[in-house]
This record gives sequence, structure tokens and C-alpha cells, in this order.
Amino acid sequence: MNSSVTRPIPYGRQHITEADVQAVIRTLHSDFLTQGPQVAEFERRFAEYIGVEYAVAVSNGTAALHLCALALGVQPGQRVITTPITFAASANCIRYCGGEVHFVDIDPATALIDLGAVRRLLESHPRGHFHGLVPVDFAGLPVDLEAARQLADEFGLWIIEDACHAPGGFFTDSRGQQQRCGNGQLADLAIFSFHPVKHIATGEGGMITTNRRDLYEQLLLLRTHGITRDAQRLTRPDEGGWYYEMQELGYNYRMPDMLCALGLSQLQRADEGLARRRQLAARYDAAFGAVPAVEPLAEAAGHAYHLYVIQVADRRGLYDFLRSRQIFAQVHYIPVHTMPYYQQLGWQPGDFPRAEAYYARCLSLPMFPSLTDEEQQYVIDCVLEFVGQ
Ligand SMILES: *Cc1c(COP(=O)(O)O)cnc(C)c1O
Repeated sequence: MNSSVTRPIPYGRQHITEADVQAVIRTLHSDFLTQGPQVAEFERRFAEYIGVEYAVAVSNGTAALHLCALALGVQPGQRVITTPITFAASANCIRYCGGEVHFVDIDPATALIDLGAVRRLLESHPRGHFHGLVPVDFAGLPVDLEAARQLADEFGLWIIEDACHAPGGFFTDSRGQQQRCGNGQLADLAIFSFHPVKHIATGEGGMITTNRRDLYEQLLLLRTHGITRDAQRLTRPDEGGWYYEMQELGYNYRMPDMLCALGLSQLQRADEGLARRRQLAARYDAAFGAVPAVEPLAEAAGHAYHLYVIQVADRRGLYDFLRSRQIFAQVHYIPVHTMPYYQQLGWQPGDFPRAEAYYARCLSLPMFPSLTDEEQQYVIDCVLEFVGQ
């Protein structure tokens, strides 16, 4: 084994530089710990990076999803479609508002929601039966939002793009235009997370992006208790300088200034990190290209590689073997419909055979910008050793 490999190797990890640390320290010396100038600046720069009109920083990706569902008016009895191969929060946000989650199986080549199957489900019910769609850019592979938008327009749905895995990712639409994940051209709203394993890591943190001004204004209200100080919006504008109004039942889902400073500092390295992720993916692809026992998921030019997923026959065996070699691979994801909570709501193992077949064989290998070539080679060697190559 190569002695330059510092173990254990996780599947994902944050990369914090001295500049990041200094950015946070500067805010600690400033007048603002929560909602200060770094919040607005992070929102502005993030929107610029994604190529979208509006961005709203919130306390985490799950809060982002919750606010999106609230802003779109999800209510008890409404039905929303998502994929079983995602983190539970993509579905839970609908439950927070009392809505019903309807899962649709994946396309086995990509592990993304199968939009053909979504169409068949929509066509088998009267228009108005379903209200929304939450597609997920799983692993960093962008969903074909042009096709999703077509369905949404035909059947009267809104779209929340869960782009947690794909900042900087894109797909090419039918006119040859690159559509960047979260750019608001096709989805009504998109969300991102700044959890430590994600591309931009602030500990906790999230972002909502949109081109819709109505939703943007609603999100600003909902993020801060439903309270406004905007003189234009007050019902009693002459009450006095202290006056504010709570106009809706909102939440405290703010992202603090110091974490936005960290996000801003990390955003400057976003392209560099993405380039390294793509380079690591290309090296894995090359290493496994001639090994039939190791099947990587589909690749794409605009893939953002939050995860590098392979499928193998003996996933449990490989997981345990890698762990014994201090490589902490991970499984993404346990199908959400098989979670006991969703089983209580009537879903069962067997409902989505392609998602379950994928789950039985999938494993996410280490993928993060600070993974060195030597460390990656060690991972590759261990995988090949296990499958007997
Ligand atoms: C990380 C993640 C979330 C939730 O983000 P948090 O910031 O951890 O709340 C939601 N959806 C997906 C697909 C994620 O990967």
C-alpha cells in the first residue's frame, strides 16, 4: 500500500482554506452575526454563478425545500411526485405541508426519475390530480428539465428542482443551449445545500434560486417569521419607526452572516473544485472502463459529480472490504419509499423494482476535490482487488 495515503478516506469531505477561516473571523469582528452584509453578497454572487435572477440564503437545504413547498402553496390533499432515490428531505418537504408524496421509479441507466414513467402516471389520472414535481439532479447528473417542464405545462404542475448535488452542473437543451442547474429557466424554484459533503460547505446552509419575483418575495417573508418592515407592504404604514408586521405564518430559517462569509469564500473556488471532481470521475471511468464487474452510472459533459457511484454484484462485500481498508464508501440512497415512515403511509418494498435493484448494487466511492491522485489510486486498487482484477 502507498504510504502517502492518509487514511481513513471518506466518500466526501469539505475543503477549508486559511482564506475561508479568515473570512469567518472577519465577520466575528463585525457588527453582524446573523442577517448582515455577507448574506446579501453571498446571495448576489451565488445567483451570478448559477445564472439566475434571485437567490435566497436559508439555514439548510431542508429548510429551503420546506420554504419552496410553502411558497408554492402545498396543502393537505395535494399530490406531489418525486424519486425514491434521493435524500429523504426531497419528499419530506411535501409532508411538512400535509401534502401526499407519490414516488415514480428511476431510469436504471442514470438513477434519475424516469420522466416517461412520470408521463404515464400523469396520463392515468385527470388533469389537476397532481400538483407538483420534485426532480433531483442525483449524484450531480442534471435532470432533463426541458422534458420535465413540458410535462409540467401539459399537466399543470409546478417544479422544485432539488439541485443539492449539482451546483455548476448543466444539460444541453433541444436548441443547443446549456441550461445550468438551478438557473430558473425551466423549474419554478431550485434548492441547494451547503452541508459539509456538498460542493460548497458552510456546515449548515442552503439556497433557493428562482426567476419568479412573486415567489422570491414570498420566500423572503417566510424566511423571517412572515415579518416585513417594507413601508410599501405595511397595512399601517404611519405607526412609527419601530413598526413591523407579521403578515404570514413564517419561520426563522435565516443563514447567519458568518456562514455566508464562508460560503462566499468557498464560492470563489467552486469552478476549481468542480474541475477536480470531473477529473477524478474521468480517472475512475478509465480505471473501470474495461472491468465488467464494476459498472459506473451514466456520465455527461455537464455532470457535477457530487457522487461517483458504481454498481457491483456483491455491494455488501465490497462495502465491508473497503471499510477494512479504511475506505469509507457510502450508499446513496436507501430508497425513500422503503423507510418505515413512508411504509406507514402505504408504500412498500417492491413498489419500485428499478430503484430497489439499483439500491442493492450501488456504492459511492470517495469523490471530493482534495482527494489526491495517490489516494484515489489506492481506492481503485482496492476495488479492483475485491472484484478480482
Ligand atoms: C443534502 C441534501 C438535502 C438536504 O440538505 P441539508 O442542508 O442537509 O438539509 C436535500 N436533498 C438532497 C438531494 C441532498 O443531497
